[in-house]
Amino acid sequence: MKDKNKSKTKKKKRKGFQAGNMRCPYCGSTVVYRSADGIYYDNSKGIMLYVCSHYPQCDAYVRVHAGTKIPVGSLANHELRTLRRTAHQYFDQLHQSGYMSKQDAYQWLADLISAPLSEAHIGHLGEYYCKQVIEESRRLLGRYQGQKNKKQFHLMRGGVAS
Ligand SMILES: [Zn+2]
Repeated sequence: MKDKNKSKTKKKKRKGFQAGNMRCPYCGSTVVYRSADGIYYDNSKGIMLYVCSHYPQCDAYVRVHAGTKIPVGSLANHELRTLRRTAHQYFDQLHQSGYMSKQDAYQWLADLISAPLSEAHIGHLGEYYCKQVIEESRRLLGRYQGQKNKKQFHLMRGGVAS
């Protein structure tokens, strides 16, 4: 087993991550690494989670990056998970719509939350910044969509404009 592989390699890049030190941000309980069975309605993909040890009284958890034990962000309760999901959908549209590149989108996110690029991940955001991401993305996408529609409108009228 890989205990402390001190001798083997230098520390991996993501040093300092220790599940043992993790505490639930809501109730302060310890956090358990376990399968999402019984938490996810469908866990056929065998997702692993970090879950508050007071689950289900305290409904806080976060999944890990597939194939690792590294959480995708901080533990979140139902409300925050929903917000993050929505924020991610809007954020993804920023680059999927062609409005900006994926790289630019992450830079935009970093600027929005005043954090370095390495920390610009929706999974790290609290409620306040999730709402900011949703609001700002919607505004940008609305404007972008508006511009596209205008262009189309002119084209339909015979391409006279600009
Ligand atoms: Zn908790």
